[in-house]
Amino acid sequence: MLIFRGLSSKYALGIASILLGTMGLVLALAGYFVFEGTQALRAELTQSFSSIQSAHDVEALRTSGSYLGDRLFDPLYRLDVSALNEEIERIQAWLAPRSVLILDAEGRVITDGSLENPQYGRRYPIPKAAAPGEVAIEETPTGRLVHLPIGYAGMISGYARIALSDARTQAFVASLHAKVEAAWQGFVERFLAIALISILVALAASLLFGIRLSRSVSRPLRDMNRVVAHYAAGNLEHKLPEGPEDELGRLARSLNQMAVEHERARAQLMQLANYDSLTCLPNRNLFYDRLGQAIKKARREARGIALFFVDLDRFKEINDALGHDIGDILLGRVAHRLSRLVRETDTLARMGGDEFTLIVEDLVDEEAPRIIAQKLLDALAEPFALDERQLYVSASIGIALYPRDADSLDSLIKHADSAMYAAKASGRGGFRFFTQELQEQAHERLSLEHDLRRAIERGEFALYFQPLVRAEDGRVVALEALLRWNLDGAPCAPDRFIPVLEETGLIARLTDWALRESLSALTALEREGFGALRVCVNLSARQLQQANLLDLVDRVLVEFGMPPERLELEMTESSLLDDQLCQSNATQLTARGIRLAIDDFGTGYSSLTYLKRFDADALKIDCSFVRDMLVDPGDAQIVTTVLALAAGLGIESVAEGVESEEQGERLRSLGCDLLQGYLICRPLPLTELIDWMRRRAFGSAAEAG
Ligand code: C2E
Ligand code: MG
Ligand code: MG
Repeated sequence: MLIFRGLSSKYALGIASILLGTMGLVLALAGYFVFEGTQALRAELTQSFSSIQSAHDVEALRTSGSYLGDRLFDPLYRLDVSALNEEIERIQAWLAPRSVLILDAEGRVITDGSLENPQYGRRYPIPKAAAPGEVAIEETPTGRLVHLPIGYAGMISGYARIALSDARTQAFVASLHAKVEAAWQGFVERFLAIALISILVALAASLLFGIRLSRSVSRPLRDMNRVVAHYAAGNLEHKLPEGPEDELGRLARSLNQMAVEHERARAQLMQLANYDSLTCLPNRNLFYDRLGQAIKKARREARGIALFFVDLDRFKEINDALGHDIGDILLGRVAHRLSRLVRETDTLARMGGDEFTLIVEDLVDEEAPRIIAQKLLDALAEPFALDERQLYVSASIGIALYPRDADSLDSLIKHADSAMYAAKASGRGGFRFFTQELQEQAHERLSLEHDLRRAIERGEFALYFQPLVRAEDGRVVALEALLRWNLDGAPCAPDRFIPVLEETGLIARLTDWALRESLSALTALEREGFGALRVCVNLSARQLQQANLLDLVDRVLVEFGMPPERLELEMTESSLLDDQLCQSNATQLTARGIRLAIDDFGTGYSSLTYLKRFDADALKIDCSFVRDMLVDPGDAQIVTTVLALAAGLGIESVAEGVESEEQGERLRSLGCDLLQGYLICRPLPLTELIDWMRRRAFGSAAEAG
């Protein structure tokens, strides 16, 4: 039984069939050979026994022939029949022959041993060659016929004719045969008994093997079935006993292995699905999940939560300037620094890009988030040593509190987000708590966005044109196209709606239209006889980033048959700083001969490098400097410096927002090339501008006249 238990299912089956097969074969072979062998042996045995017997009789006759002859000689010589009969009786007792006859020398019967002697005188043929003492044996169908010559020294007096009978031999052989048969029968019975026992043993062994097999095969299969059902249900903890090194053992091992692999894959999937690969922080998914849990828990335990939205300032510039690899490393370092500040119970997550979130649970007062926000900002204040340079990073943080600001996940997130935008808007590198006012602003912004989308679909925008005149003689040389939109019947300030168009990217949908409107205005003015003016179209960073911008500009210029130098594109320094695509588009536009003006110069970086790099054609001094240049010496200084700079670089200078004659006079004396402002003309719809131009042309003509 121990062997059976040790046997694997594979070998059990194999051994059982081999054992049964061998046993059957051995039995069949043994039976065949035994039957075959004994069949011949039985006949041979009887045969040899009978031959031995007759040989023995003949030999006895041969050896005792002369003695018998001597004994018969005397009574024959004396023709003493009774003595002869006595001898015949002796011979009969000795050899039990069929008949014994005493013949005379001519072969006539003297006596047959009986008193009646019926054969007396009957003549029998006698063998010729025999001499006294020699026995002549002749085989006849009824047995052997033995002639024993009786005589003395070559003289034959007669013969003893002995007809030997096979009866005795046959009786002996018959009894021998019976004994052999009995022995054979015994052997057959024993053989059959052994065969039967062997078959029973084989059956029992097969039964045992069968049980063993069913145990070793069906039980593991049942187990596997059960475990596979668990696996299918996603429960991978169940493991199979691995058992011996056979197919089932291997299958069990494979299933276990499969479960391990599956578990590993699931863990990887979980990692991928829930963690950010760059920073190893929880990702957006896990963040939502954790925040949901935190809100439930806080609701149950009547505790507070603070949600922080942390957005790096100007990260895009780092990415663009130093490449995404450095950007990625920096994000990793930032994540590392921030994660050192948070408790294990808090969740710091990366929402994507340069935006991180922090969930702080079990909040007791509102002072704690303030301290945490400051700690986060302080942690980033230290420069990051990267690629042999020191990188300075700041962040803007928005904070929303549960349940004070919101009691649902979505609104808490939205509020933290708008607080973050407010922090950014109020100068970056700081933090802002969410307030009701912020929410109102956000609402307003949202409804404005909605209105703007509708306005785009309905084509509700208009372009107004404001002339730019030469400072020295007041001649109109260009027009600036300015976007106008009416909200609820009243004009909406561009400063209010244009930033929303820019942030939402909607402004890109106006580029094509603005270019066409502007060029068609030029065509109209030319048709009216105002000469080849130039049009200045404002482009925001979003528009400058448009991948199809160059195609668009090319197509519109061709369509209106306009030389490129009659189109001037105004862009702010920050849009050029912001993005590589903006920069390459700007470079390609100037390469085509399209004029480039740097708008609002002085409010941004006022980078001289950019002025040179983009080969700007015009510099527009921002309204704010012009407005106060007569009262504020600082602004006056800036205006003076910028004008000198433009003159030095050979770039045309434009002063925006010129409202008074004094301003115009001062700018002219400082060498400003072009003037733009209410002093000359407000931005007007094209038809009104044409009227204004006509009036102005008429006025000049009258003056000249
Ligand atoms: P900007 O390009 O600097 O445009 C000049 C602004 O100064 C215009 O404001 C114009 O109306 C105003 N302005 C002109 N003369 C005077 C003046 O004598 N006094 C004062 N106080 N202001 C004067 P507006 O039209 O409100 O546009 C504001 C800004 O919106 C523009 O500044 C420009 O950056 C942007 N913008 C306007 N139209 C478009 C447009 O079609 N596309 C894009 N992307 N931006 C536009
Ligand atoms: Mg402008
Ligand atoms: Mg401007």
